[in-house]
Amino acid sequence: MGITVIYPGTFDPITYGHGDLIQRGARLFDHLIVAVAPNRVKNPLFTLSERVAMVESTLADMNLPNVEVRGFEGLLVHFADQVNAQVILRGLRAVSDFEYEFQLASMNRRLKTNIETVFLTPAEQYAFLSSSMVREIASLGGDVSSCVSPQVEVLLKQKYAAQK
Ligand code: ADP
Repeated sequence: MGITVIYPGTFDPITYGHGDLIQRGARLFDHLIVAVAPNRVKNPLFTLSERVAMVESTLADMNLPNVEVRGFEGLLVHFADQVNAQVILRGLRAVSDFEYEFQLASMNRRLKTNIETVFLTPAEQYAFLSSSMVREIASLGGDVSSCVSPQVEVLLKQKYAAQK
């Protein structure tokens, strides 16, 4: 059977930082599910299906047979039950991520006692990369080619052109 890990997030859009974490997670666990959340609170730029498609295209370039992507609704711990995941993977960048991530991990453990959250840090060049910064730069016409895949770059350009 092996260990299934879920890597949840908004992925609005997926960046090379997320990709770095997926590659690390895929080496450590038997099966990794990238779980894309609707996240209505954050009011994402891309729809859930667009975000899932962007993760799919990024994964296609990575050739990782033990990784799949799924959109999910509702509580993450319920999704973990559905897919028999024992572990949640999250990324830690600067210290600023810590407080929120600590709270989230504690709450998920309260909701489901037998789930563990593991944290990985990305390669140094991605330590300050976030989807929100990518969106901001792209919205102002800046170059995000070192942050996202060429496909995602095109979709960002289209999205902001359509909003003008
Ligand atoms: P959420 O809205 O749930 O925070 P994100 O898509 O922003 O979703 O991020 C998903 C996870 O990936 C989070 O744990 C976040 O800390 C992590 N993450 C995002 N960007 C990076 C990065 N550059 N390096 C490492 N982890 C990252």
